[in-house]
Amino acid sequence: MMNTCHYSGVVRFIESQLSSWKEVRDRFEHLHHLHYRQLLVNRANIKLQFNSLRVRSTMAKTDCASVESRPCFLCAGNRPAEQIFWEWNGYRVLVNPYPILPKHLTLADSRHVPQSIAGRIADMLAWTQWLNEPLPENEPGFFVFYNGAKCGASAPDHFHFQAVEAGHTPLEQHLAGRSTNAGAPLKTCETGFSGRLILLTGNRAETLCDAFADVYRQCRNASEEEPMMNIFCRYANGVWQMAVIPRRKHRPDCYFAAGDSGMLISPGALDMAGIVVIVRESDFNRITSADMEQVYGEVGFFSSR
Ligand SMILES: [Zn+2]
Repeated sequence: MMNTCHYSGVVRFIESQLSSWKEVRDRFEHLHHLHYRQLLVNRANIKLQFNSLRVRSTMAKTDCASVESRPCFLCAGNRPAEQIFWEWNGYRVLVNPYPILPKHLTLADSRHVPQSIAGRIADMLAWTQWLNEPLPENEPGFFVFYNGAKCGASAPDHFHFQAVEAGHTPLEQHLAGRSTNAGAPLKTCETGFSGRLILLTGNRAETLCDAFADVYRQCRNASEEEPMMNIFCRYANGVWQMAVIPRRKHRPDCYFAAGDSGMLISPGALDMAGIVVIVRESDFNRITSADMEQVYGEVGFFSSR
């Protein structure tokens, strides 16, 4: 299946997988019929997606004991028989069986090793370039992202990136408005709708890796653990744009609240990018802009708070 046209090859791989896996094909087709609500949050439009099929991920127990006691769904022996993969650069491309957006992929390390971004940014840049080259005219390409082990990853024990069809998230609209000229600053910090946002822009992978290492060090606390963060990467015309959103915590208080004040919101990378997945219809119907500002205020960093 390997050929030189990566983008088209991956698209054909997805089609091939969906043609032979009906339940997942149905879920991808169902994406076109999901209900959305638009909300103005911190002066930006975000989208709520009502997607009850994501309930397992939203309610996933990601503490060490729970993770250790379940079979890893990214390891070869535990994946569904229908699931095929494409291998590149030490990773396996898998179609995500519970998609949030079209062409939703998991890029899983071939080995069962922990979710830890240190030393992996070069891989993220390589994947983002690989998935977007060469991009046929009028095709959307791919948007690649990373969920930290403690802020969104359902498999914190098995390293993976994810990719989705580009162009669906409010974060990408935000990034598209930023300069990608060679003369643009490599690193800028600002507050986006979901909190502090560090943008790294450039056409040299090595420079971006060094810049990310600085961000990683600055975000790190004394505990030696990986700083909580979601990372996003897009690529066009030889230039990468990487966005790092540092996290204060994974789940907001409303996730744990009982009764009427409870709402099952469990933000991972796409939620921080402005596609907020809501698995319970009552939550979807009642959540307000103020609720989402509260959620982002708890899980992201805002300089004014
Ligand atoms: Zn595994």
